Amino acid sequence: MRLIILGAPGSGKGTSAVVLKEKYDLAHISTGDIFRSNIKSGTPLGLEAKSYIDKGQLVPDSITIGMVEGRLAEDDCKKGYILDGFPRTIAQAEALDEMLAKKGEKIDAVISIVVDDEIIKDRVTSRRVCEKCGASYNVKYKPAKVDGVCDLCGGNVVQRADDNEETVAARLITYYENTKPLIDFYNAKGLIIEGDNNVDSESCIKSIEDGLDALGV
Ligand code: AMP
Repeated sequence: MRLIILGAPGSGKGTSAVVLKEKYDLAHISTGDIFRSNIKSGTPLGLEAKSYIDKGQLVPDSITIGMVEGRLAEDDCKKGYILDGFPRTIAQAEALDEMLAKKGEKIDAVISIVVDDEIIKDRVTSRRVCEKCGASYNVKYKPAKVDGVCDLCGGNVVQRADDNEETVAARLITYYENTKPLIDFYNAKGLIIEGDNNVDSESCIKSIEDGLDALGV
């Protein structure tokens, strides 16, 4: 099974992706996580990506597309995968189609997570993540049991540098300009499934699972 999950920053796409990865035994490919781990280890890719990420802008397609192509060639992707945060532009979506066509593969479904902007701003600015394992917390709605310590691995729970109010506003503009058009792009291919994440992640996952069943995936 090859899935894409689309959604505004803080819509909960990462959280849903982790549940779907477990349920369907998929590789989870988060381009944001790949960039963050490169930034942490100070690679040239990380240094280049950081300047864009800090401003809430997209890392250029010329960097991102090659990085994803390399990741999709890794062994764990043979069992199927969920792409979280890629594609984010029409050019990336077209490049992905070409990469897959070369291998005789295709995307089975595209999940679009829907959340109101006001809810997003509130959730993102109170979001915290584990530096070590990436587990997601929220100081208002889902705090770690011990403040600043990950329940799962004991790593440091911190706020992402780009989860401040100013950068979130820029990321939302970037999303509407560049990424939202992908919903029409994939709708035209009959691949879109909606997950409504305005209420809670359980009902969102249920609607995604129903959508996958309806598509026969
Ligand atoms: P995310 O963790 O998905 O919210 O991504 C964090 C940041 O990484 C984004 O705001 C972008 O700056 C960058 N990024 C992640 N995925 C992509 C992508 N597919 N294309 C360009 N930039 C990306």
